[in-house]
Amino acid sequence: MNLAELGTFLHDCQQCRLASGRTQVVFGTGNPQARIMFVGEAPGYYEDQQGIPFVGAAGKLLTQLLESVGLSRSEIYIANVIKCRPPNNRDPLPDEVETCKPYLLQQIQLIKPKLVCSLGNFATQALLGKKVGITKVRGQVFQLSDFVLFPLLHPAAALHQGNLQGPLREDFQKLKQVLDEMAQAETETPASSPVAPSPLHSQSSIPSPPPAQMDLFES
Ligand code: SF4
Repeated sequence: MNLAELGTFLHDCQQCRLASGRTQVVFGTGNPQARIMFVGEAPGYYEDQQGIPFVGAAGKLLTQLLESVGLSRSEIYIANVIKCRPPNNRDPLPDEVETCKPYLLQQIQLIKPKLVCSLGNFATQALLGKKVGITKVRGQVFQLSDFVLFPLLHPAAALHQGNLQGPLREDFQKLKQVLDEMAQAETETPASSPVAPSPLHSQSSIPSPPPAQMDLFES
């Protein structure tokens, strides 16, 4: 199954209670061969209406922040852990996350990004497989078996709590450093030569699969 076929397969998904309240499934958008993927929590009102993730105020802020680090929405891929809008934008329930998360993992398998940026608690916990607070792990690099995970604050949180706007911008500046290191590794490192992680790649106390070599932008 390719990415488009997975989207078609989910078009009328009825596997959890969120199917009954949605306008449409919000599968994901962007470059299906993206090397960088962003993962949010769940669609909100505008996303549910338009069928595209991150199109409301938080999406506008995300677009600005992406541009501030030299990324455009067309070169990345954006999806959510949950593909259907929870009623009144409530938090997704654990069983909803468990039911929908396999489709996110399938998207990641098909897109094969080198770097996945999780936005906020839900996406970070879903991808780390650990109940950790975003404020504890934001701005750190986690080498997972198939990709590098980089958690950031969720733009919606920064819109609701003005004091998080500075920290969110700091997260994106750290992301810029990660992107620069990756680009440097791509130009300097032969695919067969592992590169030792730099101090930027912080050690995590969270158990993760054995580190893979940092050939992050090698195909
Ligand atoms: S949230 Fe996910 S599992 Fe639930 S109905 Fe939508 S696509 Fe299916």
